[in-house]
Amino acid sequence: MSSRPPSVVPNSPSSPSSPAGPTRARARRRGLAALGALAVCAPLTTVAVAAGPATASTRNTPTPKQPSATGSGGAVTSVDADATAIGLDVLRQGGNAADAAVATAAALGVTEPYSSGVGGGGFLVYYDARKKRVSTIDGRETAPKTFTPTTLQKADGTALDFATVVSSGLSVGVPGTPALWEKASKKFGTWKLGRTLAPAQRLAEQGFVVDQTFHDQTAANAARFAKFPATAELFLPGGQAPEVGSVFTNPDLARTYAVLRRQGVRAVYRGDIADAVVSTASAPPTTDGSTVYPGQITKKDLRSYRALVKKPVKSRYEDLTVYGMPTPSSGGIAVAEALNLLEEYPGGPLGRLPEAQYLHRLAEASATAFADRNRYVGDRVGTPTAELVSQDFAAERACQLFDPEKAAARPIPFGTPDGDYGDCDRPAVSQEAARDDHGTTHLTVADRWGNVATYTLTIEQTGGSGITVPGYGFLLNNELTDFDFVPLTAGVPDPNLPGPGKRPRSSMSPTIMTKNGEPYLALGSPGGATIITTVLQVALGTLDRNLSLVDAIAAPRLSSRNGATSEAEPGITGTALGTELAALGHQLKANPEIGAATGIRFLGGRRTTAAAEPTRRGGGAAGVVRPE
Ligand code: GLU
Repeated sequence: MSSRPPSVVPNSPSSPSSPAGPTRARARRRGLAALGALAVCAPLTTVAVAAGPATASTRNTPTPKQPSATGSGGAVTSVDADATAIGLDVLRQGGNAADAAVATAAALGVTEPYSSGVGGGGFLVYYDARKKRVSTIDGRETAPKTFTPTTLQKADGTALDFATVVSSGLSVGVPGTPALWEKASKKFGTWKLGRTLAPAQRLAEQGFVVDQTFHDQTAANAARFAKFPATAELFLPGGQAPEVGSVFTNPDLARTYAVLRRQGVRAVYRGDIADAVVSTASAPPTTDGSTVYPGQITKKDLRSYRALVKKPVKSRYEDLTVYGMPTPSSGGIAVAEALNLLEEYPGGPLGRLPEAQYLHRLAEASATAFADRNRYVGDRVGTPTAELVSQDFAAERACQLFDPEKAAARPIPFGTPDGDYGDCDRPAVSQEAARDDHGTTHLTVADRWGNVATYTLTIEQTGGSGITVPGYGFLLNNELTDFDFVPLTAGVPDPNLPGPGKRPRSSMSPTIMTKNGEPYLALGSPGGATIITTVLQVALGTLDRNLSLVDAIAAPRLSSRNGATSEAEPGITGTALGTELAALGHQLKANPEIGAATGIRFLGGRRTTAAAEPTRRGGGAAGVVRPE
């Protein structure tokens, strides 16, 4: 690995159309002031998250963080204090929500390298305040042109071993994150990417203080990281997970960001970085000389990659308009269907129901939405999105399946979204639940002009493929394991089998809800397929259950995804509530921690509350530019 210091690229001027964009000289001065004496010695950004005046971080002192902040001038919330501080700095310096979202994401590439970064993909939902319009960017990884529906199968048609594929080149899709950053920057942002990525480059150079979560994630992956020399060298210094309190620097990633700032993201798709990505994925070097499945992505696959601007999935819930991610994510569709179902279930407003009845409905709605998602949603022509999110379809499904006294037997059969509704007979064919894994992070940003960015990014599993691109400091994703390796059910078409250039189905659910055309709530979470249930539960907690956003995030989670069991956190399992749910027929399986949400609630007049996890994943960091 190279440890060559990155070349210095001057900040680019903000575009003339930038709302209140500072001049280059002013921005530079203000940037340095805001970021403290970075150039001299401080390892981290020095902006207190949310809490008024700047406080200097010192080496080995983590940047302060808090899970909730209310105020004005813009807001940023993410799982990480340094990333949130960088996003807030961008807002303070006149960048807008898109600029701050990209800067925050790039910082997460440094501090959350096992969940995000240049080697991964993601989805952005963006509210443009001037146009009062919501758009999305699909930065999902793509399969190589060589992929077919049987690529992830053995000769006898059974699935390849999942864990073996994960830590191999075969799972590596063409990264979409850099292309998304560029698209977001050009389409919605006011800063040049060269400027937006500067703080993350500095963070990679100066380092961040290792916390328990980073240590634990490294330790949990140590065996597979040790297998790949560049990963072992970077993430297991001296053969161990970095100690809590030590400063972790990533000079190679700093150099990568410097290249992106200088050359643009084409470096990842056509330049030296593209060559390195392809050669690493094609023949991942191993420490013991053993071979892993080779990857199939080619330079041509990288050259033809595009981040795609797409219309959001749009639906209504109560007096809100709900915008989510379309295919290849199933998030927007499943969230919309579940909310529609909840409106159809009899028994009055969710807010008045006892907790067990509320959670019973949540579980029935999410499991039903998963039955339909597994059968119909994938990156293919013909996903019946409009039908799946129509209220009439939800009415038919509610009538077929919902019983306030008893959970429907799992797996719930899928419905028929054909435009002809009113049949209350329970359908016959059901499928087993799809598998899912976790390695993702979510950030939410609002600016003083009213723009909103909600962005989930991932490298799939925590630590992705485990393969670091030598000399470039980032891990390659294992997103292609999000395809179904074999059809979920013999004889039932599976929309999520691999295919050439196809994007694997995702559950990522960055969501924006508006009321009378104005932003009302924006949120998202990591957690594989549990993302959908987490986003639903957090939204309902604050919309219907009378919880503040941070309390809705903190509330114990239940995730019912049409498997035999529903996962539940402590606070549900082992309590009277768990007993009540069991009496309704829910088989609960304990899961100590589900998801890591962040969100922003809009309070009117540009006041916002930004919120993050108080404790999950070690707690997140919410901040506003002008705290109250
Ligand atoms: N790869 C998963 C998806 O796209 C996300 C993994 C996670 O959230 O941790 O749905």
